[in-house]
Amino acid sequence: MNKICFVTGNKNKLREVQSLLSNYKIVSLNDLNFLEDIPETENTIQGNAELKARFINNKFSIDCFSDDTGLFIDSLDGNPGVKSARYAGDNCNSDENIDLVLKNLKNISNRNASFRTVICLIKNNNTYLFEGVVNGKITEERVGNDGFGYDPIFIPEGYHKSFSELTIDEKNAISHRGIAVNKLVNFLNGQ
Ligand code: IMP
Repeated sequence: MNKICFVTGNKNKLREVQSLLSNYKIVSLNDLNFLEDIPETENTIQGNAELKARFINNKFSIDCFSDDTGLFIDSLDGNPGVKSARYAGDNCNSDENIDLVLKNLKNISNRNASFRTVICLIKNNNTYLFEGVVNGKITEERVGNDGFGYDPIFIPEGYHKSFSELTIDEKNAISHRGIAVNKLVNFLNGQ
């Protein structure tokens, strides 16, 4: 069976993608005994997705893909964007990031935002990019208890619930990452 590495330390993402790719054996960074952090030094999510995939492809000569995601808020000039994981500081958590977004959007009526995911695939030394975008709005306060990251403050277009209030299946069907992963899976399954 074809082997491909998913450049992530996130077990949930690994499980989700493996279930969609029955023709491939997905290898994790753990399986490669690679436990270091790859510094995300580029200033776009596409750049960081490419950087991570290139790094692992060069080091292990294995086909691989990696993803990078950001929340882009119109009234904040596209921030937190590529800095979504560390908007409130290098060692901050999601709660602190959300607090800073809500503070920076206080009394601002344009709350339009989008989540974007870019997946970079390197296969047989060719590079392919897959993008997923979901538009929506930032709430005035947290809504819902589930999910992770900025889920409690993002309402996708056409919905009255935040990402936090959707089931995982409902979220995957419309989310930035769901869309990008589907494009990757269709491409790989068609090969
Ligand atoms: P990553 O590139 O998947 O690690 O995502 C970067 C940051 O964006 C994470 O630390 C989260 O805060 C946020 N993020 C990514 N995906 C989601 C999502 O589906 N919902 C909410 N926040 C997310």
